[in-house]
Amino acid sequence: PRLANQIAAGEVVERPASVVKELAENAIDAGSRRIEVELESGGARLIRVRDDGSGIAEDDLPLALSRHATSKIESLEDLEGVASLGFRGEALASISSVSRLELTSNVEEDPRGGWRVVAEGRQMEPRVSPAPHPRGTSVSVRDLFFNTPARRKFLRTEKTEFGHVEEAFRRLALSRYDIGWTLRHNQKTLHQLRGAEDAASRERRIGALLGSKFLDNALHLDLETGGLRLWGWVGLPTHSRAQADQQYFFVNGRVVRDRLVAHAIRQAYRDVLFHGRHPVFVLYLEVEPSVVDVNVHPTKHEVRFRDGRLVHDFLFSSLHRALGEVRP
Ligand code: ADP
Ligand code: MG
Repeated sequence: PRLANQIAAGEVVERPASVVKELAENAIDAGSRRIEVELESGGARLIRVRDDGSGIAEDDLPLALSRHATSKIESLEDLEGVASLGFRGEALASISSVSRLELTSNVEEDPRGGWRVVAEGRQMEPRVSPAPHPRGTSVSVRDLFFNTPARRKFLRTEKTEFGHVEEAFRRLALSRYDIGWTLRHNQKTLHQLRGAEDAASRERRIGALLGSKFLDNALHLDLETGGLRLWGWVGLPTHSRAQADQQYFFVNGRVVRDRLVAHAIRQAYRDVLFHGRHPVFVLYLEVEPSVVDVNVHPTKHEVRFRDGRLVHDFLFSSLHRALGEVRP
């Protein structure tokens, strides 16, 4: 099983940023209101994600580290409308097979409670030991890839790895405005985002994550037709190319890179505005869960729409209409 875990780790754990994503998604699934991400040395030394979610009970702690022990799927019907972000029960097992992992959790409100389990490259300590922790969970991942030197060699500079982490953090924080998020690197707090869903708080978060210029030159939209809703912000053409990579598209709260979506946006953008401009956007598509299959790939950046044409046309016409109103 150790080898199987390490192989699976190759799928899920590519670099510190993928660890941050998996741990934060678990924290989201646990109903957390606040999630803190802390790193040292770009994540190569330490990645710690701390949440105030449901916690993991003492008896379940060792289970959480074993493969396919997920608690999130109870029946086949669940697979149809998977609402939680993780469901394959692979992330913690994979991460713990290539790092020194410490999982501390408490399901009670009493902060004197709490339990910890430690795994070092899968050599799990036999016992779960008491460890005080407020309600919620902390996962510390130290020395990522310490036992797979070939993979450790693939880690880039601290700056590059942290850049990937920041991008993962941006996507996570943009996916859930109701959650408070903190990002710390080498003891320095880089983001401290309060969880709130009002328009002003959302815009403050966008400014903090994407730069205040993003909103100065963006159009807000919110359109709904036949069970499909599209809302968010689309940047209008500027002469600055600095924002060229600011393209965020979420389907039911998950970040998605999809050709059909990209095509619809590009087409609407080109049709209405000048040619040769790079669209920048933060857009949220909300659909019935049955309309979309989000689990095409383990890292889940892909989606498959039941009716791609319908979604494409909705995106195109919504954006076309919104942009058309502000045509320069
Ligand atoms: P998956 O998310 O696919 O279920 P993981 O390996 O990521 O698999 O996590 C295994 C299990 O551990 C989860 O199903 C969940 O029950 C528990 N778990 C992991 N992280 C947390 C957390 N932050 N809060 C509460 N439970 C957690
Ligand atoms: Mg998970």
